[in-house]
Amino acid sequence: MATSAITVLPGSETLQPHVENSIPYYTFHRLGEFLELEHLVFTRLGGVSSPPFASLNVSYDTGDEAGKVQENMRRVRAATDCSSLIYARQSHSSNIVVLREHPHLDPTIPYPLHGKDGFITQLSGLLMMIKVADCQAILLYDPEKKVVAIIHAGWRGSVKNIAGNAVHLMRAHFGCDPQDIFAGIGPSLGPCCGEFRNWRQELPPSFSRFQVQENYYDFWAISQYQLMGVGLLREHIEVSGLCTKCHPEVFYSYRGEGETGRFAVVIGIKDSLHF
Ligand SMILES: [Zn+2]
Repeated sequence: MATSAITVLPGSETLQPHVENSIPYYTFHRLGEFLELEHLVFTRLGGVSSPPFASLNVSYDTGDEAGKVQENMRRVRAATDCSSLIYARQSHSSNIVVLREHPHLDPTIPYPLHGKDGFITQLSGLLMMIKVADCQAILLYDPEKKVVAIIHAGWRGSVKNIAGNAVHLMRAHFGCDPQDIFAGIGPSLGPCCGEFRNWRQELPPSFSRFQVQENYYDFWAISQYQLMGVGLLREHIEVSGLCTKCHPEVFYSYRGEGETGRFAVVIGIKDSLHF
């Protein structure tokens, strides 16, 4: 089971495939060098949800059964070494929460936070989750200050430069030097499938340099550009290079499927007992 679960995962120059408890996931090569860091890029595989949400859907807002989402969330948590987990009902904003204490989650409430699209913390043992299907999950880690962040960047988030906002907040709240920060851009809509017919209304003129053909944009390059614009080093930014719409057997794709689930990307600093 373990071997077959890995072999279905498409290859990537920046991602390492793994399997834990029969659930496949990836880690980024550079981020994976920090032993105190936990980060997992899950897929749609290894959960209990039925089509069109099959199978590891972690969103309560897609029409999936809540009980199945709960079991999928339990499986995601079980694959990690962190004691608590935070996530939000995302809203394509640039709102990012700085977490200074562990959340006390009420299991009867689907979402502990609303309208948040990113998290930053220096706490250990706190896993932070972003849920995506074509949008980017962007992971950030400053190994000097031991500050970790994750954001949800769809095209609306890119227009609001939520990636730049996250780095500004890491500087402002924790004194992070952007040159110390490492980043990973997860599986998401690639330039192959990034069609924006209404780009004149939706995208700012500064994005025009990232138009790769008529009506198609490279949002991976936009995120790299925005992160470098706030001081990250190019060699510290890893791009998965995996397009969700091109790999519907492994990832959820809102553009490709319409009614579908969301896959989880998580990051946190491990409980101190684990490293
Ligand atoms: Zn594609």
